[in-house]
Amino acid sequence: MDLFYPKLVTRDSTNALKIVWSDDKECIYDFRNLRLNCQCALCKHEMTGDKLIKIEDIPENINLTACEVVGNYALHFTWSDGHTTGIYSYDYLRKLCN
Ligand SMILES: [Zn+2]
Repeated sequence: MDLFYPKLVTRDSTNALKIVWSDDKECIYDFRNLRLNCQCALCKHEMTGDKLIKIEDIPENINLTACEVVGNYALHFTWSDGHTTGIYSYDYLRKLCN
């Protein structure tokens, strides 16, 4: 299994995040979609995997207020809607990138 890590994490525009990965693949993540795909227990049912948050619940102008590395495997995002419990593994972020 290939393990990728972000070489560069930066803001791509007012509403998107850009990650350049260790293999030079570039991914753009729309903030609203990224927030929607949060994997924490408040956003995703632990047993069923159902999303507990809907796109209409997320402000259109949602902003990323902080981004920090967790261990060597994930990014922790803090959102302008007050949500702070989202941890996105590198593996998961790669899956979100097409
Ligand atoms: Zn969440």
